[in-house]
Amino acid sequence: RLTIAENVAVRALAHPDRPAIDVLGGPGLTYGAAWRRVVALAGAIGMAAPGPHGRMVAVLLDNTADALLAYLACQWAGVTAVPVNSRLAAPEVGFIVGDSGARLILADAAHADVASRAARDHGAQLVSVETIPTPTSVSHPALGTAGRGTLPCVVGYTSGTTGFPKGALYSNDHYLTALMRWGWTFGLTDDHVMLVPGPLFHLSYAGLSLAALCIGARVRIMPSFDAGLALDEFSGTSTFAFLVPSMTGLIAQEWQRRGGPAVAALRFMISSGAPGPLSLTRTALRMFGNARVCEAYGWTEGGWVTFEAKRDDTLLAHSVGWPTFGNEVGVFAEDGTPCGVGEAGEVGVKGVTHFDGYLGRPEATEAAWRNGYVMSGDIGIWQADGRLCIVDRKKDMIITGGENVYTAEVERVLHEHPAVLEAAVVGLPDDRWGEQVTAAIVAREGAMPDAGDVQAFCRERLAGYKVPRRIELLAALPRNPMGKVQKFRIIEVLTNGPS
Ligand code: ATP
Repeated sequence: RLTIAENVAVRALAHPDRPAIDVLGGPGLTYGAAWRRVVALAGAIGMAAPGPHGRMVAVLLDNTADALLAYLACQWAGVTAVPVNSRLAAPEVGFIVGDSGARLILADAAHADVASRAARDHGAQLVSVETIPTPTSVSHPALGTAGRGTLPCVVGYTSGTTGFPKGALYSNDHYLTALMRWGWTFGLTDDHVMLVPGPLFHLSYAGLSLAALCIGARVRIMPSFDAGLALDEFSGTSTFAFLVPSMTGLIAQEWQRRGGPAVAALRFMISSGAPGPLSLTRTALRMFGNARVCEAYGWTEGGWVTFEAKRDDTLLAHSVGWPTFGNEVGVFAEDGTPCGVGEAGEVGVKGVTHFDGYLGRPEATEAAWRNGYVMSGDIGIWQADGRLCIVDRKKDMIITGGENVYTAEVERVLHEHPAVLEAAVVGLPDDRWGEQVTAAIVAREGAMPDAGDVQAFCRERLAGYKVPRRIELLAALPRNPMGKVQKFRIIEVLTNGPS
């Protein structure tokens, strides 16, 4: 069967003039032009990194067409793409270059300094994308080269919140299967226009965008997230989007500020990447009008494994829906026995869309699997109707006085408080109780939440041991580029004060 790059080549052969990629505020590329750019990038990569198939190439680019096409170019050149978070500092980039063994860094001018330091420190060659011209025509591609399925396709580095980042490796077959399944599950068809508001170095945004190109849809890349522009897109052009809850929250604020009607163009929206409060889903259902508002749950190593189209009359807090087609999702107790309805345990997946292992880390790879399931590190609970609820990450769960406190449950209650815009609950060390439930909250505009009042609000809705003992007001919650709250940084701030 065809690889991801070959699928896109087929689209380019069949419909060269069809719009493929726009970068908001910049020129657009047709499928024909996008494919010519792939061939140009692949040529430069092949020239700089000749050698056996499967070599690693670090990619350090802003959110541009090249950032997406680089995945295809690496595959076309027979090397493995190692997308690097474009916000990392030089030593962090150096770590990834060294750890992956990349001998080539593909970078843009915006990252020339960081890339050249990493290249020098690790004996890698630097190729700047600005120096690679795009030809006006390319020869007819030879498609269907067999036997490339098990070769590594991409290595996505974890953000390293628990130790050094690890490179999650997907083979060509697994990545293609994963992204085609996602496209299928989410009803992605060639008449869709997909807004890409998040970073293409993340395998989720990359995977969905590549799925769109394989299918023949059009992709619109945002160089950086902008809530107002996203709202304009959903009102006028873009029909499909994957948003993390923090983006939906900012778009909702903008929508409320403008006081406009529901958006007109958007037909399908997936929320994923982090838990979001029910109030946000309710707002999304109103704001996105006739679009399907969906939730998908997954993680870098497991892929997206559950899915739910949200409806006002069946909304359930913490629900991430039902297992997606082709995936067996399990919830397991500490001793490995499967959990029944209502019992909390760790979520795992057995199927076809998960990763193939960590690059160069056999022990970590072995630890990622249990009984044939790739484990998530998340605590889930099956519902009687077959939906899965994600109540916490294992590492975030608080044990206080011997009782388990799921932080998502406390956060849900805090979000219901009228003066609270955002909340994150963490456990701080406590001599008496082991850990102390602590909440960091951000006030709604114009509100001044009082700690005693918020605690009283929680006490009416939660068992006493779950009520935050300490409540701290922050100006904003620290987040990573995927919009995810970084609880380790909240713990640092609450322990040592702001740095
Ligand atoms: P790291 O790189 O440190 O491992 P990470 O685990 O946050 O960071 P990802 O694999 O991108 O990186 O994130 C997956 C996690 O995000 C899941 O394990 C889960 O905790 C959370 N998550 C994803 N989707 C949802 C969802 N729909 N609802 C609730 N939580 C979600």
